[in-house]
Amino acid sequence: MDLRALLREIYDFPKEGIVFLDITPLLGDGKAFHHAVDMMAARFADANPTKIVAAEARGFIFGAALAYKMRIGFVPVRKPGKLPYKTQSVTYDLEYGTDTLCMHEDAVLRGEKVLVVDDLLATGGTLKGVLKLVETFGAEIAGVGVLVELDFLNGKDSLNGYSVQSVVHVG
Ligand code: 5GP
Repeated sequence: MDLRALLREIYDFPKEGIVFLDITPLLGDGKAFHHAVDMMAARFADANPTKIVAAEARGFIFGAALAYKMRIGFVPVRKPGKLPYKTQSVTYDLEYGTDTLCMHEDAVLRGEKVLVVDDLLATGGTLKGVLKLVETFGAEIAGVGVLVELDFLNGKDSLNGYSVQSVVHVG
């Protein structure tokens, strides 16, 4: 199945000069979405994670579907002020400025095997932030899974040392 054909390029979104890869045509195609989640699960069949951690908002779509498929727990990572219980947070560098992500302080246990998921890997900044946060819990990273990797941005280089699996490569 050609998943790449279901990704739509949107020029000048969210700002002028940016070509945004829109995943909603793929999400809206039941067979394609199912296939994409199955492909992601297959990549980690031998990793035996106990939890999936994913950041809002698009990370939730694949993170939750994958957790259901793999019969493991799902942990949401959110921007400050969104989670109701006590949180642990991390501030990380982006190309311009910084960002902060939060997780419930009891969401992941020390030594737990965590699979970190997102829809798309661009520069790697977001995933690096999530990984930094998960590691403050003393968890082991079982792998990093994304639907799409923008190869030309070399985001994988900034995730050196992690097993990064991408279903669709966009060159
Ligand atoms: P990065 O932090 O790797 O530069 O950017 C990846 C994050 O930003 C992901 O959480 C993803 O949802 C979002 N993102 C950045 N660019 C795109 C894009 O072109 N398409 C989609 N769907 N998400 C993007």
